[in-house]
Amino acid sequence: MIKYRYIVAVLLTLFFCSSCQGGSELYVNIPEASKKIQGETIGTVVKNNETESAYEDNNNTSPISFWDDKPVSFANRDTTTDGKYLYSFNQERNYKVDLSTGRVSSVCQVPGCPHIRSAYGCLDFVNFQCPVATNKGIYYTDGRKVMLLGGEKSECVYENKYYTDLDKKILPDDPDSIHSLAVQNKKLYMIGTTFALCMDLESGDVSEPVDLSETTIYAFCANDDYCYYTDQYNEFFCYDPKERQIKKLYDDVTFCRAYEDRIFFIKYEAGIPILYSISGPDAAPEKVIEDCYVFCAITNGYVYYQHYAQADDYDIYMYDLGTHETDVVVLDHERYNEEGDRIPYNRNKKYVISYSSMIDHIFICDADQEVVFAIKAGETEYKAIELDLK
Ligand SMILES: [Zn+2]
Repeated sequence: MIKYRYIVAVLLTLFFCSSCQGGSELYVNIPEASKKIQGETIGTVVKNNETESAYEDNNNTSPISFWDDKPVSFANRDTTTDGKYLYSFNQERNYKVDLSTGRVSSVCQVPGCPHIRSAYGCLDFVNFQCPVATNKGIYYTDGRKVMLLGGEKSECVYENKYYTDLDKKILPDDPDSIHSLAVQNKKLYMIGTTFALCMDLESGDVSEPVDLSETTIYAFCANDDYCYYTDQYNEFFCYDPKERQIKKLYDDVTFCRAYEDRIFFIKYEAGIPILYSISGPDAAPEKVIEDCYVFCAITNGYVYYQHYAQADDYDIYMYDLGTHETDVVVLDHERYNEEGDRIPYNRNKKYVISYSSMIDHIFICDADQEVVFAIKAGETEYKAIELDLK
């Protein structure tokens, strides 16, 4: 077990300027703080061009995608990153963190907007559901609309009108709502209560809707061949689009993720969540991690997770899918309090561990304590970005 020794702590003191005119840089950070982080770049910035294939980052490590290959899960519902910014969308306020400087700023870029809750159309207060970053911008849902946030504006790219009698029964007022988005291999899956549609992100073509479930769809992922999903009873299914057939695979599953050529899923056995992987719907499952809390991240060849059954264990573990070795990350950190004193960071909690295929880092966003921890996949050292969002 390796404990990290290296911490870069950044204090960002931000002033929300409620009367700024037209500027996109609404936050002022203390020059000293920006000096501290200079030269420190968190993650690899994805170049904004339309090159077809994924490219290698400067260190020739894992390829970075132009698309956040993102499944639907409870985790990862509120954050996304395009490699340049980490976006955090929550009910209090939406913000983004510049990953090369640590500066926090407004998501809203509408010219002249004062960025206050009462300002009509201010994107800092729009309820973004299931944001997914791509090199075109951030897709999110708003009722039955699928939106794309790019540059100064947010536009509707698809408006769903499809629903079944069952959707009407489950959600009488909004049967046609799109609840979640998943992206895999340049396809955007739009998930309703019981149905799914698929948009080709390059051509914009949208498939016919498919009725997948007799109850509400909870988790969802897809690869080139199949769609996998769970329902509200934690039943795990596979849909074969070629045969137009649904097959039930397992019970007690709460998480699924298509990663490289395998499907990972968490199945509860005697109250313990176990991470398995399969190569296809008919393949035998392989056990990957015993006691893997559902808010885990699988990215760049690693699984970052916490334990669940061991309730008083709050460390974050890093499992190497290649070597099968496990290391530990300890968020043994001090942060500034309101008086400017350093106080111990309270790490005794279970986290949502967030990731994006567009960047080789995972993020632990702790809105309660206003700290974001960034960890490069494959490492156990963290960089802490302290936020002042008041
Ligand atoms: Zn605004």
